[in-house]
Amino acid sequence: MNQAALILIKPDGLKKSLTGNILTRLSETKLEIVAAKMVRVSKELAEEHYRHLKDRPFFGEIIKYLRGELHNRKKVMALIYWGEEAIKKCRQLAGATNPEEADPTSIRGSYGRITTSGVYENVIHVSSDGPDAEREIKLWFQPDEIIVELYPCKEVIDKEKKRKVWA
Ligand code: UDP
Ligand code: MG
Repeated sequence: MNQAALILIKPDGLKKSLTGNILTRLSETKLEIVAAKMVRVSKELAEEHYRHLKDRPFFGEIIKYLRGELHNRKKVMALIYWGEEAIKKCRQLAGATNPEEADPTSIRGSYGRITTSGVYENVIHVSSDGPDAEREIKLWFQPDEIIVELYPCKEVIDKEKKRKVWA
């Protein structure tokens, strides 16, 4: 079954110049990249992304982490991988959440670490299942930014909206 997975290269991955390595590893999946962009992560976006963890003691720290406040890199790279069993394939290459428990040859096992304050800095995010991927993709991307129609959408005329165009 074809499915989509949201991948985020987190601020530690960017700070460590791992973008190329991570994309090379993910290319082993033979999946198709159907969207990619750099994002400056607002507090609202980070809190919505991690809303399932809002009652955990580390919530505040992972919001700062995703926003780049722990690495002085205020951005993430967001991508959508699409194809057969995309989530399973990407999560397998990513490895376990805790980088010390992750397979040492996985992305997180190779490049992740646990900070002195206990945050798992694990360089990438991968959606955990189909519904999660749909929720996350709709949060991070607009339909026009994705080169295939992943989910049903509708057309609206939005003339009032202020936006930038090339001068
Ligand atoms: N995290 C952490 N400590 C924990 C659990 C999670 O620092 O005990 C961080 C870690 O960066 C992880 C993120 O919170 O990637 C989201 O947690 P989740 O359980 O969704 O793990 P994931 O889906 O990223 O493997
Ligand atoms: Mg998760």
